[in-house]
Amino acid sequence: SDEYKMVSKKWKAKPTSIDLGDGILIKDGDMAIIAGPCSIESEEQIKSVIQHLKDNGITMMRGGVFKPRSSPYAFRGLGLEGLILWYNLAREAGIKIVTEVMQVSQIEEMYPYVDIYQVGARNTQNFNLLDELGKVDKAVMIKRGISGTIEELLQSAEYVFSGGNEKLILCERGIRTYERASRNTLDLNAVPILKAKSHLPVIVDPSHGMGIRAYVPQMALAGVMAGADGIIYETHQVPELAYSDGQQTLDFAQSALLADQIRKTFALR
Ligand code: PEP
Ligand code: MN
Repeated sequence: SDEYKMVSKKWKAKPTSIDLGDGILIKDGDMAIIAGPCSIESEEQIKSVIQHLKDNGITMMRGGVFKPRSSPYAFRGLGLEGLILWYNLAREAGIKIVTEVMQVSQIEEMYPYVDIYQVGARNTQNFNLLDELGKVDKAVMIKRGISGTIEELLQSAEYVFSGGNEKLILCERGIRTYERASRNTLDLNAVPILKAKSHLPVIVDPSHGMGIRAYVPQMALAGVMAGADGIIYETHQVPELAYSDGQQTLDFAQSALLADQIRKTFALR
């Protein structure tokens, strides 16, 4: 098929490793843990999350400063100023930054402060954004589209890879189905299929995939056993007060337990 080629295993048999520096890698045969709030909210919140991550040996922090919200009246993020604040605190702590880029004009202004550009589920098929990220010398994590197929995710990845940026990560974050009992349907079928078809690392996001705090940990562990190379999840010091996605966000005790369980489950694989 010429639908995609360079991201396929036929093109490159050896799994792609993403090296973020300081010995922090995302790669096949390893288990990356990326945790943090849905949105970056304040200096106090950033400090509190960083301390939690450090206490639990987690070296990659997620958080949005440009937020794609369903309602224009919802909190839309602290923007570049928030990213710079976060960057200064994270660098000092040796923690890498994973954050969403929503449009082409943000790529350059975010560049000095980002370790992994996240392409959100609402932007998986923003082909102009993907083209521009193909020209950047920094890692990109592409989330599966809200109603996107596995093949469409790989084709989106092909845009970036064929544009010249091979530092790519795929993320299964749930798809919209007829089922409304959970926010999305986490499609764990995608994990072994993506791993078989592509040389790129695959990360699972059980927070957006499930959308219900109490059930996030078991879906994270299911993702580990499905063969994921990493898990990304939301955590916050007081989830009930989070500016976004509090209903699916773990508190620090739940997060500490989950990080430990992810490592133990991975060891069984
Ligand atoms: C997020 O990671 O907070 C987010 C908005 O994710 P998604 O694009 O998967 O909805
Ligand atoms: Mn979120």
